[in-house]
Parts: sequence; C-alpha cells; structure tokens
Amino acid sequence: MLDAVSRHVAILGAGPAGASLAAHLLKANAPESGAKNAPDAPAIRVTLFDGGERPPLVVGESLVPAVIPFLKRLGIEEEVASYSLYKPGALFRFSEDEVRAFRFDDVPGATTSYAYNVPRDRLDASIRDAALRAGAHFVPHHARVERDEGGRIRLAERSLDDAGLSEQPDFIVDASGRRRLVARLLDLPTTSGDRRDTALHAHLEGVGLITPNDIHTDRLEHGWSWRIPLPGRVSVGLVMDSAVLREFGATAEEQYDAYLRHDPLLSDWGVTAKRITPVLRYTNYQLRTNRGVGPNWALLGDAFGFIDPVFSSGLLIALDGALELSRAIREDSPEALARFEQRNLLQLENWQRVVSYFYDGRLFTLFKVGDDVSRTWYGKLLNGHFRRHMPRVVTGEATTHRYSMGLVDFMVKYGLKEEDPRIRAVR
Ligand SMILES: Cc1cc2nc3c(=O)[nH]c(=O)nc-3n(C[C@H](O)[C@H](O)[C@H](O)COP(=O)(O)OP(=O)(O)OC[C@H]3O[C@@H](n4cnc5c(N)ncnc54)[C@H](O)[C@@H]3O)c2cc1C
Repeated sequence: MLDAVSRHVAILGAGPAGASLAAHLLKANAPESGAKNAPDAPAIRVTLFDGGERPPLVVGESLVPAVIPFLKRLGIEEEVASYSLYKPGALFRFSEDEVRAFRFDDVPGATTSYAYNVPRDRLDASIRDAALRAGAHFVPHHARVERDEGGRIRLAERSLDDAGLSEQPDFIVDASGRRRLVARLLDLPTTSGDRRDTALHAHLEGVGLITPNDIHTDRLEHGWSWRIPLPGRVSVGLVMDSAVLREFGATAEEQYDAYLRHDPLLSDWGVTAKRITPVLRYTNYQLRTNRGVGPNWALLGDAFGFIDPVFSSGLLIALDGALELSRAIREDSPEALARFEQRNLLQLENWQRVVSYFYDGRLFTLFKVGDDVSRTWYGKLLNGHFRRHMPRVVTGEATTHRYSMGLVDFMVKYGLKEEDPRIRAVR
C-alpha cells in the first residue's frame, strides 16, 4: 500500500503507458476531477523517468477505435487528429480474390466509429506533454532499480540523484516497455504465445492502397504484412518466421527489400515503392508476465505484456491499463491493485486468443461462414446479434466483455460448419 502521508509515485518510462498514467494520477489531484480517492487522500506527486533513446521509427502507428476515448480523456484528440490520418476501417486480404473490408461505422453498438493512424513519435510527445502540463516531474534519464526485501523494489542511488530525490518513492511503476525492468529484476514468471515471428518495419513512398486511409493486412506466402497509411508515406511491416527472412538476405534491409519484391500479393507495388527510412527489426513478442503487482510496484503497458502487432492492440492495452492503475493507486488498497492486475491479465489473455484465431485461420473462416449463413432466413435473424458482438472484440471495445468474447470462443469452436480454417491460416 502507498504511504498515507507522502504519496510519491515514480514511473519508469514516459511512453504512452507511463505518461498517460502520470497525467491521470495528477489530474485526479484536482478536487473537480471527480476521481474516487481514498478518504483524505493527500495529493500524489509523480516523478517520470525516461532517458529517451528511441529508435528513428517506432512501431504502434495504427490505433483501434477503442483508443479514442482515452485520447479524449487526456484532452489530446484534436491535437492527435491534426497530424494523423483519420482511419475509417480495416482491410484484410487473404488472396487476390478474397478481401474483407470492415468499416468501423458499420459496427452495430460501437461507441466509436473511427480511429487514427499516427506518427508514433508525435503521439508519444502529445501524451508526454499532457503529463508535463498536469505537473509531472520529468527526469531525462533512464531509471535503475534494485531488489529490496520482501519482494519490494527501490530506485538505485544514481536514479535518486538524477531525480534530485532524498527519499525512496512510495510506489514504483515499471512502464519501460519491452525492456521489462522490474519483471527481469525479479525474474517474474511469464507466458509466451506460440508464434516466434520477426517483424521488419520501415516507411515507404509509392505503396499501392485499395482504400486510402484504412490499415491493410495481407496474408502473404510466408507470414503477413501491414500497410498503415500515414501523412505522406505508408508504414509497411513484414511479420514472419526469422528463418524464412534469412533466406532473403543477411541484413534487415536486404531481407525487407527482397521480400517486398518477392511476394506475389505485394507485386503491384512492392517492386516500385521507395523505402525512405532504415528497417527496424522486432523479435520475441507474444510475452506476458503472469503477475503485475507487488508490495510497492506495478507493471504497465508492454512492461506487463505484449501480444502481437496484428489487430493493433498494444496501445489500447497500455492506455486502458494506465487509467485502471491510476484508479487503483488513488484508491490505495491491495484489492484495487488486484483488480487492475486482473483486468490487465484479462486483456492480455483475451487478445492472445483473438490473435491465435487469426493465425490459425478460424476467425476469418467464421466471418466467411457468417456471410454465407446470412443469406438464409435463420442467418438473417442471428446475423444482427453476431455483428453486434464479434467485430467489437476486434476493435477493442468488447475484448474484455465476457459475453462477446465467449461468443467468439464458442463460434470458432462450433460454428465453422464444413469450412477448413487452414485455408485462411497464416503460415
Ligand atoms: C512489430 C510491432 C508492431 C506494433 N504495432 C502496433 C500498432 O500498430 N498499434 C498498437 O497499438 N500497438 C502496436 N505495437 C505495440 C506498441 O508499440 C506498444 O504496445 C506500445 O508502444 C506500448 O507502450 P509502452 O508505453 O508500454 O511502451 P513503449 O512505447 O516501449 O515506451 C517505453 C518507454 O520506456 C522508456 N524506458 C525504457 N527503459 C527505461 C528505463 N530504464 N528508465 C526509464 N525509461 C525507460 C523508453 O525510452 C520508452 O520511452 C506494436 C508492437 C510491435 C512489436
């Protein structure tokens, strides 16, 4: 529990997760915020560490509609809209002939009917600025942590010095992304997904698009690719087994350029498009920590877990977790922290299942069966019900809803009729 007199929270990492947590915690200090604080709760102070060694490009450029309410709550939606591309939908291509397009405003019951594709550096800056405006004490250094007794952790002397602190904070949040500072320090147990893919990421000009602002996901000869339209360029990612990539060259650049020219589904633009950035490589994702809170610490965002780039769930899990954790810290009870942990684990577990249904082909086989069945009288009756629940699992609005997620689980098991899901599986 937090010390009731001095409530000082140190956040390690000012990416979307850490910076939005800082903003929520500090905004709730204001009496008019309506936040559910512990009785007579003293104001919370936040120290936000980040040494800021970001690569030239950062993945996480596609937002799902469920992210929009978090941007509104942070008061930055207009700013984000000003430098991003408005995204009305998503498009999935399994072959030349099979393209499935979703429009977010076509989803019955949806709270938000659009999203954005964002230049990630600018999004991160907007969220960080919101934290600074709210009063976070920003320390432009990476933090170091050490083990304390009884599963507690503390800041290393050097980090206390960097922050000009004379005492340890009451609570430490690890939002260091895939560096996973605390999980590594405490050697916390983890669960891995079954994919061992590598993602190669770069920005290009001259990329063909079927619909100009939608994210495109193409199921390739090996793995899959994303095309995320951004202002003046398109982000293209290749996601596949590393062994396959090695057949296309020695360096990330060689592999990326050669694969773009190779895959038949990319051939209408893969040969002529011009790469305008270096290629960044990401490996070893689909990893979640089984525990997210301890006596004086919590994990947040990718530092808690990250599932997979397909369906763009990472920022949603980070932003949703930040809001939930800010409430738990303010409520200041082990039960509240346990609730945050349970919700974040549920997000990670459910997204892992949805993602697995994409890779094994069952999710999109289900959509195909839905199309076929909707032409029958009983299908017409049921279709409205399915359309209200299933797409919202993928847009992030209902991924943690027991009924909607349960319906997806049930239908991928029993609703595929005679269709073979392997036809749409990702190799
Ligand atoms: C290939 C790939 C594609 C993806 N595509 C998408 C997508 O399209 N949409 C989407 O929503 N998500 C996507 N994601 C996931 C998304 O990028 C992350 O989920 C998101 O960035 C998580 O935010 P975060 O704040 O937890 O971590 P990060 O964004 O990684 O931020 C962590 C911060 O911590 C800082 N830091 C690190 N170590 C320390 C330290 N010791 N002390 C202080 N600070 C430290 C770093 O400098 C950084 O600023 C993708 C991920 C991958 C791997």
